[in-house]
Amino acid sequence: MNPEDRILFRNIFHLVTMNDAGDRFSGIDLLVRGRRIAAIGEKIDAPGARVIDASTCLIVPGLINTHHHLYQTLQRNIPAAQNTELFDWLKALYNVWQHLTPEAVRVGTLLGCGELLKTGCTTALDQHYVFPRGVEEDLIGIQVEAAGRLGIRFHPTRGSMSRGQSQGGLPPDSVVQDEATILQDCVRVIEQHHDPEPFSMTRVAISPCSPFSVSRELLEETVRLAREKGVLCHTHVAETKDEEEYCQQVYGMRPLELMEEVGWMGEDVSFAHGIHFTDQELDRLAGAGTAIAHCPTSNMRLGSGVAPVPRMMARGITVGLAVDGSASNDSSDMIGEMRNGLLMHRLTFGAAAMTAGGMLGLATRGGARLLGRPELGSLEVGQAADLAMIDLNRLEYTGALSDPLAALIFSGIDHTVHLTMVNGRVVVQDGRLVNMDEDRLIEQGRRISGEMLHKAGLA
Ligand SMILES: [Zn+2]
Repeated sequence: MNPEDRILFRNIFHLVTMNDAGDRFSGIDLLVRGRRIAAIGEKIDAPGARVIDASTCLIVPGLINTHHHLYQTLQRNIPAAQNTELFDWLKALYNVWQHLTPEAVRVGTLLGCGELLKTGCTTALDQHYVFPRGVEEDLIGIQVEAAGRLGIRFHPTRGSMSRGQSQGGLPPDSVVQDEATILQDCVRVIEQHHDPEPFSMTRVAISPCSPFSVSRELLEETVRLAREKGVLCHTHVAETKDEEEYCQQVYGMRPLELMEEVGWMGEDVSFAHGIHFTDQELDRLAGAGTAIAHCPTSNMRLGSGVAPVPRMMARGITVGLAVDGSASNDSSDMIGEMRNGLLMHRLTFGAAAMTAGGMLGLATRGGARLLGRPELGSLEVGQAADLAMIDLNRLEYTGALSDPLAALIFSGIDHTVHLTMVNGRVVVQDGRLVNMDEDRLIEQGRRISGEMLHKAGLA
């Protein structure tokens, strides 16, 4: 398709714009020209445009996933890590991840991004932090290529682990790298793959794995480098009580105090999880503009706890939504993630604590803000043409259409969308990936997953 082509979504049953006014329309048209939204209005005249009948469909801004480990799609649901909390879960999985190959990274990225696109996600951040000894290939470059092939907007982050078991860290030494190698490669990845322009399809960030797998020096050096290069910083913070104890033991302070000491606060910083924060810590996060990538399913799956998202929202903290890695979710279903988040916060904080619109806000505007992408997250003239279209003329939505937005989160038995558009291009059509043979991908994924488990002695 020529990107300058025009596509007209005709007679949309319900359009959720997520603009500042919260406008929602029924029976309206939306015109896409190139990579932008060109017009929203009644009976738009666009001779020659491709017309898509949306008369039974809900259209929402493309969902934004703010935290993932795509390589883990090949290690879902492993019995050895199925019923454990984070530290034991990690120890079981490091054993598998040391056998990660470039091919596994490529196929894992295709699988995870494929699932995301099929559930209405148009932009995804990934944190890749496993660089096994002896693997020399550009693993982030392989991911960029795979994401580009599918057509998803991609924020790869160059992760790292520098504190192996011999230095008091959690990961085995076979998957950690020294600080100089990590920093040098961060520079290379930024120079090769980062595109800072608006509407960019690839933006790089730097992401040391966690306070218990990198050194304090690496945290200091990476944030300095990120600011020099003008890229964002991302890591895991306050995910578990074990992490809190580790930081108290090793550094004599709480995880957030450590991050403050090493300069990891500000609008260019986001933390995945953010569960175990005190109210005073939430105030400090709000003051600094530091963002949180909220991962409800993973937090429930690992029994990590409940992130105080309503209290974050009340303070104006930027919160994005995320599925987290597939070894702790174990799917990349962005609509399912909104549903799980809504239910989690109602169970914890009461029925009024989280609304469907609030959850969609995290998954769109919140994510765009976390990633520094003002051109994403809402459907307005001039914004990026990133959207998801869900056919509501299905058994499972029947009877739920008094509020079509909420129907998406409260109802539904299969979160596969009808169509996903990224940057003006249709990348999911009739619920199938446009740019990938799904059957072949399944076959490759099954083979590689089996080989890795076999090498780790788990199959
Ligand atoms: Zn994670």
